[in-house]
Amino acid sequence: MPLTRRTILAGTALPVVAPAFAQSATTPGASPSGQAPGFYRYKVGDIELTAINDGFAFRPLDGFVRNAELSDVQKAMQDAFLPTDKLPLTFTTLVLRQNGRVTLIDTGNGDMGAPTSGTWMANFRAAGFDPAQVDTVVISHFHGDHINGLRRKDGTAVFPKAEIMVPAKEWDFWMDETRMSQAPEGMKGAFQGVHRVFDPIAKDVKRYEADKEVVPGLTAIATPGHTPGHTSYMVSSGSGKFIVMSDVTNHPALFVRNPDWSAVFDMDADLARQTRRRMLEMAAAERAQVSFYHAPFPATGHIAKDGNGYRFVPIQWSSAV
Ligand SMILES: [Zn+2]
Repeated sequence: MPLTRRTILAGTALPVVAPAFAQSATTPGASPSGQAPGFYRYKVGDIELTAINDGFAFRPLDGFVRNAELSDVQKAMQDAFLPTDKLPLTFTTLVLRQNGRVTLIDTGNGDMGAPTSGTWMANFRAAGFDPAQVDTVVISHFHGDHINGLRRKDGTAVFPKAEIMVPAKEWDFWMDETRMSQAPEGMKGAFQGVHRVFDPIAKDVKRYEADKEVVPGLTAIATPGHTPGHTSYMVSSGSGKFIVMSDVTNHPALFVRNPDWSAVFDMDADLARQTRRRMLEMAAAERAQVSFYHAPFPATGHIAKDGNGYRFVPIQWSSAV
């Protein structure tokens, strides 16, 4: 039948449309109203990286930046076309695969986060992984959004075979009983959260030092300030180099743009600021690709100098890995 205006208007040109839709709507895993699964793969030399999204949480903007006026913070949000009352803070972890070895960097919120988070496991599985195949979990620092995915609320370990590796300095700080008992009221919950996750495996946890290779191709860089043992990483393979920034900055629209601003979560604001300046300057000078745990998905891009601050320039999404 020739496709003419008359056949289109009569609705007779494409009689198979309705059954085709009906079929796709019942395909497992496909939903006509949800997003595609939140994973994204890219490569650094021979190492395959997969970004796994764990949803987001809203944070009130008021009080989020310790040393800036709310109106200035709102202006920065407006410049980035983001809401001016609350910050949608995303969580993106990394999976590294090399020679059949699977390493995670951080684990997301598990079942302990905001209702809009907790999508990590579904996205991890959608990317073709299984928690039982994880060889190593490398933790950057001990905040809940990075460690809670290690253990479910009911106490079950999520990665049964994995070796857990943590920064030695971070361990010494958070596992110190005296420091925990003397912690201000607002910090007690964070200490308790660390104990919930690590007490059952305390004797098995491996502690790593900065400037050392943690697993092949992944070298720890001490980036203290956000927390005492906060760690970033250099991923190297062949001529490929990549910096995992972890929480050197919180949302780039605020803290890459304004590196001297302090997020409410930075435990030592001055040290965090020095660390941030040093790491952003290095990334900009070397034109290195970087990732940030709290950058918009897939949370990877480059750093460009811009005035007294920097700009985060996201990578171009590619259909090829
Ligand atoms: Zn974080």
